Amino acid sequence: MKDILAREAVLFRLRTYGYRRRDRRVRHYFAAERSKAPARELRKTKVALLEAMREHINDYCAVLASADGIETNWTSQHLKAEASLDAGFITIPHIRSHVAYAVALHEIGHIYGKHQRHPSTMVRERWAWKFARRHAMLWTEEMETQKVTSLKWYESQIRTGHVPALHPPTEISTRDK
Ligand SMILES: [Zn+2]
Repeated sequence: MKDILAREAVLFRLRTYGYRRRDRRVRHYFAAERSKAPARELRKTKVALLEAMREHINDYCAVLASADGIETNWTSQHLKAEASLDAGFITIPHIRSHVAYAVALHEIGHIYGKHQRHPSTMVRERWAWKFARRHAMLWTEEMETQKVTSLKWYESQIRTGHVPALHPPTEISTRDK
């Protein structure tokens, strides 16, 4: 019981991490952008923000491993991102951009998001993106574009029969483009 409560407490903290821009590195980034700070200053805030994103994802990976036995594999290619609830792993890109951060949160959303046992591929995809957007410390246009592109890709793959529209709930593994 204590373990379950501890896990929920950690997950709650991660889900609200930087939420409503509480992380000072997010605030600094926006402040520097707004005030048209010199390039050097702007770069510094960008690096600090990436560091915050990396910490956020690393913290999630630690909980995935210790509380839920889910392994994280790292990749240099966004196109190789994937998540498998049943095989117990996620593959996520190294956090070197906002888009990589969004993709990593999306894969985590396939584990901790709502409706991830739903047979419809599109339902699982949409809710994994909802998880990503909701729990990201910021959501930029590039991140939104990634979401839209990925969902469109799934729609076309389903239309052409390359990805099944429905999955048996016991074999859920999502190979994200
Ligand atoms: Zn997905």
